[in-house]
Amino acid sequence: MTTQLKSFDNPVSETPAGKTRYIPQNHRRILCIFPKYSRSFGTFHHAYPLMGVRKVRAFMPPQGILVVAAYLPKEWEIRFIDENVHPAKRADYQWADVVIVSGMHIQRPQINHINQLAHRAGKITVVGGPSVSGCPEYYPDFDILHLGELGDATDQMIEYLDQQRERPKQQIRFETKERLPLSEFPIPAYHLLNINHYFLANIQFSSGCPYRCEFCDIPELYGRSPRMKTPEQILAELDAIRQAGNPGAVYFVDDNFVGDRRALMTLLPHLIDWQKRNGYPVQFACEATLNLAQSPKLLEMMREAYFCTVFCGIETPETEALKSISKTHNLSMPILDAVKVLNSYGMEVVSGIIMGLDTDTSETADRILEFIRLSQIPMLTINLLHALPRTPLWRRLEQEDRLVFEEDRDSNVEFLMPYEQVIDMWRRCITEAYEPEFLYQRFDYNMEHTYPNRIKVPNSPARTSGANIRKGLTMLANILIRVGVFSHYRKTFWKMAYPKLKAGKIEGLIHVGLVGHHLIKFAAECGRGKETASFYSQKLRNSQIKEMVGEGKGV
Ligand code: SF4
Repeated sequence: MTTQLKSFDNPVSETPAGKTRYIPQNHRRILCIFPKYSRSFGTFHHAYPLMGVRKVRAFMPPQGILVVAAYLPKEWEIRFIDENVHPAKRADYQWADVVIVSGMHIQRPQINHINQLAHRAGKITVVGGPSVSGCPEYYPDFDILHLGELGDATDQMIEYLDQQRERPKQQIRFETKERLPLSEFPIPAYHLLNINHYFLANIQFSSGCPYRCEFCDIPELYGRSPRMKTPEQILAELDAIRQAGNPGAVYFVDDNFVGDRRALMTLLPHLIDWQKRNGYPVQFACEATLNLAQSPKLLEMMREAYFCTVFCGIETPETEALKSISKTHNLSMPILDAVKVLNSYGMEVVSGIIMGLDTDTSETADRILEFIRLSQIPMLTINLLHALPRTPLWRRLEQEDRLVFEEDRDSNVEFLMPYEQVIDMWRRCITEAYEPEFLYQRFDYNMEHTYPNRIKVPNSPARTSGANIRKGLTMLANILIRVGVFSHYRKTFWKMAYPKLKAGKIEGLIHVGLVGHHLIKFAAECGRGKETASFYSQKLRNSQIKEMVGEGKGV
């Protein structure tokens, strides 16, 4: 590495820039709640019981509301509850002056339910985050809507909460006109949570994406010119994450990690240096467009920084389909070649796949399964097309009168193919892709052809601490017993596991055992109709909120 590193011996502490500049006159107690989200392929919930001592209960810490919690005046008392870890109790609502909630569209029923509970306790309620920013009309009963990102609206909202104790008579909206530059964002309030409750940790370097895929709301919500944090901030956040627990892996949740390649070239040497100084305590993962495969310099640095997984929105292997959804950047080189290039830098590819596109035919399922076989990608999130508000897709379908608002459907899109046929194709793809034999065969390929391309990380104290070894042994024991003895696919498991055990490939075996178990179980549930065909589907979400209320988990 020839890049000159600036010294960050005194990395970002709590600078005034990390907090609101507003100085409050009154004391306030703020309860920040992140609502329960629905299960999906990507939440890995079936893997949690195998992780033993870590008591993993949720996928990733919710970045947005943790940033807001960190930005609030330091004079105020803040309590943070992630309802995916444990629900807020009646005492929490009674303690608070104000309840702030944030979430995505799929959490809409839960967000509105929290509002009801807070109002029942007589508290002022605020909703912010991506869902309300895209669709304020989804939240008619909240006292205050915070629309857009952290910025001038946040300062106005803080001033309002400082000066008012009573609920407003009418809903108030604060809308960000001037965003706080990402480089002035505070470190998310990791001190308010235990990282060990999460499957992995996450971090955000940039926001926004230069592309314009038809179905995606990122460019309209967060802009097409990516905005960045500084390397100093990222290193300080990584330090703060490690202080809050031992995550093992950190996922860059940027909309597109390679949205601004020049900025990334500046960050990566610092990540490499941080890993070296700390003994490679974590693996990195990110989301990036497939054309990352055409940037060998970036890939080499990512390898050095120990990036082991990259999620690419491949969406479909069909050329015409990619053109029709404006995702032609996936065609800048043959897709299978691009996957192989990423593998050659030690990165296992995870792929998004969308079904129900206008270009789909009765052969689409066969083509997708063939693509899975040829690409050897173990994990693919296979979802039905769903139109999100504030996307070109939404506007087109609205014009064509093809938006359907029926709660018992898995998608709000009127497909060109018959609905049941699309669902059948989806179910076939999911169940065949995650047949244990087929899945393990793809993992085997990656163990042979991808993992050996990673750098050899040292047996540093950070990696071989007593706690880490205990954690690894517990996971291994759980996998061998729960999967190797009690699962319905134990024979297939041992065919995969025995040679790995003999060869001492324990880390790979734990990874495949954990992730594979989730995928196999989740796919089986999809096959039985227990999970929905779309991440955004309201069908199961609504039954889940009813279940939650019925069980009295709220207050
Ligand atoms: S590349 Fe990804 S983040 Fe960017 S517009 Fe397309 S789907 Fe959205």
